[in-house]
Amino acid sequence: MNLRSGPVGSGAPASPGAPASPAAPVGPIGHLGRDGPVGGRDGRVGAVIRTRALTKRFGPLRAVDAIDLKVAEGDVYGFLGANGSGKTTTVRMLLGLVLPTSGVAEVLGESMPAARRTVLPQVGALVEGPGAYPHLSGRANLTLLDASGARPSRATNRRNRVAEVLAQVGLDPSDRRPTRTYSLGMRQRLGLAAALMRRPRLLILDEPTNGLDPQGIQEIRRLLLELNRGGTTVFLSSHLLPEVEQLCTRVGVLDRGRLVLQDRLDVLLRPTGLVAVRTPDAGLATSLLGPAVVHVEDDRLLVRSEDAAGLNGYLVGERVRVVEVGPYRRDLEHVVAEAVARP
Ligand code: ATP
Repeated sequence: MNLRSGPVGSGAPASPGAPASPAAPVGPIGHLGRDGPVGGRDGRVGAVIRTRALTKRFGPLRAVDAIDLKVAEGDVYGFLGANGSGKTTTVRMLLGLVLPTSGVAEVLGESMPAARRTVLPQVGALVEGPGAYPHLSGRANLTLLDASGARPSRATNRRNRVAEVLAQVGLDPSDRRPTRTYSLGMRQRLGLAAALMRRPRLLILDEPTNGLDPQGIQEIRRLLLELNRGGTTVFLSSHLLPEVEQLCTRVGVLDRGRLVLQDRLDVLLRPTGLVAVRTPDAGLATSLLGPAVVHVEDDRLLVRSEDAAGLNGYLVGERVRVVEVGPYRRDLEHVVAEAVARP
């Protein structure tokens, strides 16, 4: 699967002694819930997005194949998938921009696209290449967008709100340059500013950090977390694992149109009950520990244990040279690789 691991940073640091290879044993680590309980960052419950067997075909291609998404109020939901896996098509169906071939999509409790007139004013969206009038400034674009909306604000309120959202996304409200001079990252920020104009209950963002440099990615990440803390539910599609790992409370993984994994991130990354040990005396350690050793690969062992320090003390006492020892945790890359590899 072509999910990229950069450029947000290295994600959660690997625990000391964690094997570098994702080829960890699947069995002893435990069952991966495919569909755990829906619950947001602060425990509020209620489906903000719900789909049932949502499907989109383009001729013979099932771009989206019978997916059941659940996004709870208060979630930051990371919708992961390689290029071409169907993320944008799903997002477009959620926003009523593309008609499903079959299945149901509910947003804020209402069916889409039928309820789009009541639903969309409560949703801020950023989908593929935000459009803007190239000869106008960012500020003028947002002013025009608001004035042409179904519920335009009063002129003073609008002026203030435009300045506020531009500052929120890191654009200078006094910048008069036309948007044709904007970099890709600035366009992306402007698209996000447009999505924020109406103080939406729900943000649906397709690859929101596309084109941003690492600092820009961090700024947008901070902004999304701040909005989430203020009560906004965030649904974002991404092919960047670290971005999702650092930002999201809940994760869904699309693979060739199928939803192969959906669960809370803390559940997916829960402790494994294993300790990773690196030692040049792997044979001796294995014979001392017996059936507690669940996996050996060269100088690396995975041992069933909750007590890394105790295990270290025991091995050293038995004259095993321990190079590294620590609790073994999987990162999202492992979890996703396993889900995608399942038949
Ligand atoms: P990316 O990250 O590259 O944007 P994605 O996960 O968003 O990919 P989609 O854009 O939803 O994927 O595309 C899913 C599949 O559907 C792809 O194979 C794509 O070529 C195909 N597809 C998308 N839109 C159409 C269309 N209008 N007509 C025919 N095929 C389409």
